[in-house]
Amino acid sequence: MNKKYYILFGPPGAGKGTQAGAIVERFNLCHISTGELLRSEIAAGTELGKQAKALIDDGNFVPDEMVEAMIEAKFRSVEGVDGFLLDGFPRTVAQADALKALLAKTGESVTACVSIMIPDELVHERIAHRAALEGRADDARDEVVTNRIQTYHAKTEPLVAYYKAAGLYREVDGVGSVDEVKERIFNVM
Ligand code: AMP
Repeated sequence: MNKKYYILFGPPGAGKGTQAGAIVERFNLCHISTGELLRSEIAAGTELGKQAKALIDDGNFVPDEMVEAMIEAKFRSVEGVDGFLLDGFPRTVAQADALKALLAKTGESVTACVSIMIPDELVHERIAHRAALEGRADDARDEVVTNRIQTYHAKTEPLVAYYKAAGLYREVDGVGSVDEVKERIFNVM
């Protein structure tokens, strides 16, 4: 049986990480957060982590090949799930094309792009809140947060049109309580 490949989409601070746990439990998926994988590489002091750190700390993307290799390794190594929940990947049209090509090798494809939408004003508020809770370096400085939001609009938002054109785009309102947003996500999935 082919696996499900869900993309959890949305601007920084939309609540992707917060919602991921409940979604993977409900649908027996493996959560793959490229941001979390990169932060563990940094924490472990690996060569990859060293290369990624300066880029992440300034709110810039790491090279496509780096995250694509991480995703492929996870797809190949994880067993016993019905599919995957991709969080923070793809983030560019080039990554979306790479994902499509990777899945096509095994006759598979993206199941849906589930998008959590919140307005920009709320992005700043949510990130300030998370900075206090999680202490992420890339949440701490205003100019880095602003850079990430601009990068989101310029490079990641085109994926909305990309997945709409493919008939795979499902958007939910990300404003509300964690439980309200979770119900909306479960409904579209
Ligand atoms: P996140 O935890 O998803 O907010 O990701 C934190 C940071 O990791 C991002 O701001 C990027 O610097 C880097 N990153 C995560 N995923 C990707 C990706 N798919 N492509 C490029 N950079 C990424």
